[in-house]
Amino acid sequence: MQLKSFSFNPFQENTYIIWDQDGNGAIIDPGCYTFEERQELKTFVSENKIQLKFILNTHAHIDHVLGVDFVKNEYKIPFCLHPKEIPILSDSENRAAVYGFPHYQAASVDRWYTDNEIITIGNIELKVLFVPGHAPGHVAFYEENNGILIDGDVLFRRSVGRTDFPLCNHADLMQSIRTELYTLPDSVKVYPGHGGPTTIGEEKVSNPYIKGV
Ligand SMILES: [Zn+2]
Repeated sequence: MQLKSFSFNPFQENTYIIWDQDGNGAIIDPGCYTFEERQELKTFVSENKIQLKFILNTHAHIDHVLGVDFVKNEYKIPFCLHPKEIPILSDSENRAAVYGFPHYQAASVDRWYTDNEIITIGNIELKVLFVPGHAPGHVAFYEENNGILIDGDVLFRRSVGRTDFPLCNHADLMQSIRTELYTLPDSVKVYPGHGGPTTIGEEKVSNPYIKGV
């Protein structure tokens, strides 16, 4: 499996593309907003001959959904989200107005996750982990063969997701990290929604907000 990360929009949100050796791929949290960002994404996809199959969102905060409508129209692929994100997605046009993204258009969801389901993309298998707290229907994607976790805004390198937004719950966030993430092997590489990658083992030892047991 190959992975590419992009940093998009003023929130420097990480958008990821993963793909297998046959080019079957998925895009996670498309946050591209400007013409240039969208062009960069399209060029990468076409130059690497990637056939995108899914838009997989970890959650629906505005910085993670700014490019969903564009990607959905461009590639005609389903937008996938957890049903508990409905209130966040429903409010996203208001958030876009507040944060100054006048061209944002909310996309409709085509497929809803179930907890612990496996999403197959060519020969990539992603397990959907339900990790609420930063957002009520937040999920993370675990690819066991290569030991990769794409976790949105749950666990960052030396930090954790904010819980001062509406519908956040700090206790849930801590519980999600302890039960769903810190139980993965220490060697698992974590690709968060902002900032650079880390590993489960490193964060258990060095994360100032939540130590491992
Ligand atoms: Zn977020």
